[in-house]
Amino acid sequence: MRIDRLELEGFRNYENLAVDFDPGVNLIVGDNAQGKTNLLEAITYLSMGRSFRTRKEQELIRFGADFAQLQGCITGSVREQTIKATLFASRRPRQLFLNGLKKKTAGELSGVLTTVLFCPEDLLVLKAGAAARRRLMDGALVQLRPNYDSALSVYGRLYEQKSRILKERFENPSLLEVLPEYNAQMCQVGALLISYRARFLKALGEAATAFHRDFSGGKESLALEYRTVSSVTDVFAPVQELQAQLAGHMESHKRAELEAGQCLSGPHKDDFDVLLDGLSLKSFGSQGQVRSAAISLKLAQRALFLKETGEEPALLLDDVLSELDAGRQDFILNHIRTGQVFITCCEKTKLTGLGQILQIEKGRLLHSLPADRLP
Ligand code: ATP
Ligand code: MG
Repeated sequence: MRIDRLELEGFRNYENLAVDFDPGVNLIVGDNAQGKTNLLEAITYLSMGRSFRTRKEQELIRFGADFAQLQGCITGSVREQTIKATLFASRRPRQLFLNGLKKKTAGELSGVLTTVLFCPEDLLVLKAGAAARRRLMDGALVQLRPNYDSALSVYGRLYEQKSRILKERFENPSLLEVLPEYNAQMCQVGALLISYRARFLKALGEAATAFHRDFSGGKESLALEYRTVSSVTDVFAPVQELQAQLAGHMESHKRAELEAGQCLSGPHKDDFDVLLDGLSLKSFGSQGQVRSAAISLKLAQRALFLKETGEEPALLLDDVLSELDAGRQDFILNHIRTGQVFITCCEKTKLTGLGQILQIEKGRLLHSLPADRLP
């Protein structure tokens, strides 16, 4: 699967852009702050219906502009499709179109353009807070499972509403009457999230194990371990069972939640750990091990998407290669030989010698030229 053409109007620092991409490697070069990451952000926006950098859509609209428009021509194994998104500076909600037809949710774009993004922060994802790892799971699942996206947004809304009730319980005690209803709904949707996450992590873990074995020259064995609400005994149990176990946990944390004034029970704190030869990477991993495992996870994610959808997702490497030593760069470059790849970096390099080089300056495409023509 690939994006052949991207057109932007009023997106970030791009006033107007029309660019044709290579089906293989696209090396995006330019000085700092010229718009390289913005370009990757636009591609992932079309893929996931949201930005990976911000939740505030207004930030995506070019300063002073009334709206932003993004359009991509996507070629999958079956057919060509166009995705269009229009964002408004006013409070008007954004609009999404697939092949000219308006879509209500980002979930309806699921699978049209799948992408795997890799940026320097991801290299530390296994040492960072749990939120970063949840973003990894959620970002992948939103693309793989149309229903996951809606379940996740419903859960997010319930979580915010319940948090408000807990916070305002003294000023407004009558709100507490609706709490049981919120709890019941959160357990219902939460059980779904756990079920999806457990299956995703199992498959991701299997693929990552294989990559990591290769990466470490057969020396290290990598495994993933899903961490969710403690009352859940088997994450692969039927959702009704998960729901009952979540309800039990919530019931036993009722007082604590009221005292703390915040939600303490539910899968919004989910996490996963990576074990290397049985040892927690988060606690014991060396810097190099953490980076290598993160690379294995990313490559695994791409392999998993390919297996599940039959299409190789576009891989977006934002500044990541410059952060790596030669051995790790080679490992990545050797494993991305197929499919479409976008690589941003500051200097023109003979990194790949494949595909095309796009030179970006101040939100404009200066030129594109075949990589093997690099002087
Ligand atoms: P680096 O190599 O440092 O990562 P980059 O080329 O990836 O740089 P981007 O993050 O793509 O840089 O672009 C950053 C620039 O875009 C900033 O200078 C910022 O001011 C500008 N920018 C961001 N949002 C907007 C916006 N809404 N309107 C206009 N310009 C914006
Ligand atoms: Mg950047």
